[in-house]
Amino acid sequence: MTTRDHALALDADDALAPLRQLFQIPDGLVYLDGNSLGVLPRATAARVAQVVAQEWGQGLIGSWNDAGWMALPQRIGDKIAPLVGVGPGELVVADSTSVNLFKVLSAALALQREADAARPAAPTVVRNVVVSERSNFPTDLYIAQSLCRQHGCSLQLVDRPEDIPAALGPATAVLMLTQVNYRTGRLHDMARLSAAAHAAGALTVWDLAHSAGALPVALAADGADFAVGCGYKYLNGGPGAPAFCWVHPQHVSRAWQPLAGLLGHAAPFAFTPGYQPAPGIHRYLCGTPPVLAMAALDCGVDTLLAAQPLGGMAGIRAKSLALTRLFIDLVGQRCGGHGLQFASPDADAERGSQVSLAFAPDSAAAQHSAAFGVVQALVARRVVGDFRAGDAQDGLPDILRFGVTPLYTRFADVWDAVEQLRQVLASGEWREARFNQRGVVT
Ligand SMILES: *Cc1c(COP(=O)(O)O)cnc(C)c1O
Repeated sequence: MTTRDHALALDADDALAPLRQLFQIPDGLVYLDGNSLGVLPRATAARVAQVVAQEWGQGLIGSWNDAGWMALPQRIGDKIAPLVGVGPGELVVADSTSVNLFKVLSAALALQREADAARPAAPTVVRNVVVSERSNFPTDLYIAQSLCRQHGCSLQLVDRPEDIPAALGPATAVLMLTQVNYRTGRLHDMARLSAAAHAAGALTVWDLAHSAGALPVALAADGADFAVGCGYKYLNGGPGAPAFCWVHPQHVSRAWQPLAGLLGHAAPFAFTPGYQPAPGIHRYLCGTPPVLAMAALDCGVDTLLAAQPLGGMAGIRAKSLALTRLFIDLVGQRCGGHGLQFASPDADAERGSQVSLAFAPDSAAAQHSAAFGVVQALVARRVVGDFRAGDAQDGLPDILRFGVTPLYTRFADVWDAVEQLRQVLASGEWREARFNQRGVVT
């Protein structure tokens, strides 16, 4: 049996432990939802207040130049670039993850359309299929569905990750995946799948929402073509923080993205009526950057850069795996007898930075849709994970998610979370009506 003292010893030995001080975490709260909304860095409130009072209040319009507001998409992009394995000037911060996905998926489809048209004979097969996972995050699937309608393409959804390579063929235009699946926490092998996609003549679009800032990402080395990522999860940029997008330099200037706007123009302040896309990733900008939100994101990204001297993303990954392994071991040791199963992979190489649990379909808990109530009962006990609804028709169970964020999650937090889970299950309190009222956001 693993004791709480063991967890405390792991904390005492943890090189990243001092980084927790960079965050403002409510007393007594075990927060295992940084994969949904990262916690508030201590620096953020003062920095945003300064931007409001000084840069906006005093500097007014001059701050576009004097305070470097116009350079924010690129400047913060350059800080994120090394976290995801790309070079400076290749990545920009803009818009939301959904909107960036719309831009890059459109561009990928446009490149494939061009390649089709360039074939010597009239093509018998047009590349008109986008392949993704049925359990991909819904907004990603919705964006793909909308673009497929526009481009006369279809979306092919694969049920099991191991079946993805076989789904790629001469009609595949794009393989679009979230590197770490939001439900199962499964980490895809980006290098292997990108190679399989390229061998089939397809392009790849990767969503890094659950991997950027959580584990080392190597977009360039692993052969990715396009990528987007989220600012408010592991980058700690605050609710609705701007997102980012990256396009491989070999593609970036070959296609327009569909949301042509002033900031993506080659010479925005020439104010000409004709659109000329900027060379490089700047064409992926559209409108004016949200400066206040950018200031908060900047502070969030700085918390990851603070880990650089302490082992960087490799150190973060090692701690993340140790935390999730401890969670898995403790659930196995202490939470038996309730039909709880792991929905996240056991193999370290396949697991992102979360542990996902589900009740076995034939368990009493599953019959009573316990997952939602269990998560609410844990919240009442000051342990915050989250619930993701399943879909019986698609064979997806309800999921209990517990994300770990090595910058601030302690080993003792994991121990305490599993102890509270044990008590919630043993007491059956999740059945109480007060834990089964659903709010607007679940
Ligand atoms: C969190 C998340 C998003 C968020 O998209 P928004 O545009 O910010 O709503 C998108 N995709 C995935 C896979 C996510 O996990």
